[in-house]
Amino acid sequence: MKIAERIAPYMKQVEGVQQTGLYAYFQPVSRSMGPVVEVDGKELVMAGSNDYLGLTHDPRVVERAKDAIDRWGTGPGGSRFLSGNMTLHDELEERLAAFVGKKKAVVHTTGFLTNLGSIKSLMQPDDLILFDKENHASIMEGCKASRARITYFAHNDAAEAHRRLASAMEKYPEASAFLITEGVFSMSGDVAVLDQLVKLKEDFPELIVYLDDAHGLGVMGSHGRGTANHFGVTDKVDFIMGTFSKAMASIGGFIASDNEDVLAFLRNDSKTLIFSAALPAASAAAVIQCIDILEKEPERVERLWEVNRKVRKGLKEIGLCVDDNDSPIIPIHVGSELKAMKISRELFARGVFALPAVYPAVPWNHALIRTAFMSTHEDKHIEKVLDALSDVAHKYGICKQDVDSEGA
Ligand code: PMP
Repeated sequence: MKIAERIAPYMKQVEGVQQTGLYAYFQPVSRSMGPVVEVDGKELVMAGSNDYLGLTHDPRVVERAKDAIDRWGTGPGGSRFLSGNMTLHDELEERLAAFVGKKKAVVHTTGFLTNLGSIKSLMQPDDLILFDKENHASIMEGCKASRARITYFAHNDAAEAHRRLASAMEKYPEASAFLITEGVFSMSGDVAVLDQLVKLKEDFPELIVYLDDAHGLGVMGSHGRGTANHFGVTDKVDFIMGTFSKAMASIGGFIASDNEDVLAFLRNDSKTLIFSAALPAASAAAVIQCIDILEKEPERVERLWEVNRKVRKGLKEIGLCVDDNDSPIIPIHVGSELKAMKISRELFARGVFALPAVYPAVPWNHALIRTAFMSTHEDKHIEKVLDALSDVAHKYGICKQDVDSEGA
């Protein structure tokens, strides 16, 4: 099929949404002040950033990144494999491994590339992957590229994962089995039942557990050491993957493990590491500074939870269905994709930046407004977001009582 024919239905859909004036994505932010951003000359409270600790604007992080530019320049000049490896990358790997409680780490240029390259290198066509249905697209792309057999289990359902693993191992007794889950799920904000998932190892001692902790790093566990630390199961998780594009105020990704041989293999086999330019110095230096801050100032993480508790309480008072997850992501469940687009637009008009998550990021007709809050949000910011959400929630009938009466 010709490309024009193939993309026609998709283009029609995008154009349709654009014509309604509700297309919400690729908003051009002209300035960011952390919890407040500027779009089209208007200041909005940011209620959807992954900069959970507000460290992208911390003067110490900014300074460290600037110093690194002075020393290494703005670009890496090559992949780490060839000319782009800096002492800074090696230092960052050591600091990361120690921070998450593993022996070694390998840094890639983004989290997406970390998952894609590492999973493809680790898994082979005869292997078996147990895959949580809500796992991120980068995990999926890595799994598809590996051509391993993928077995899905219902989101965060350890019992189903156990059943599926048992029946798959009966069928393919020679296969290596991997279980891949996120630590904090990027859309629902659910915290993985990691304590239950690692228990599968009691019946399947050779099961390899791979944790994508993109949204858990910097926020979960003691000093933000991540979701495995939060559950006290770091030694049972074989690979911890994380990104710097969330709480670590930068860009980049890593994979950490106690298995130094496998990491040495990844370093020489991961195509996305070898054939993609290295993480720029400023980005690497910023992460090192974030680790320094997290090690010394656990109160930043505490402040994030304080903000989150306030927001969750406020949302419940409005009448919205909010779960009690301890997670920096708070989804506002809306239903239809169109309603989510309209609500997001109305929030913008009320001075709040919060975007819809629609299919295929979430199941069809389960659209949500993905809100996320930061340590640097002040009470006045929280109030503004809650006021705006209160207006639109009642206008669009998304409060608990509306949903209940619809179902009745
Ligand atoms: N894994 C998860 C769970 C994510 O949410 C993301 C980014 N949204 C990634 C991986 C990719 O990370 P990066 O943005 O660093 O490419």
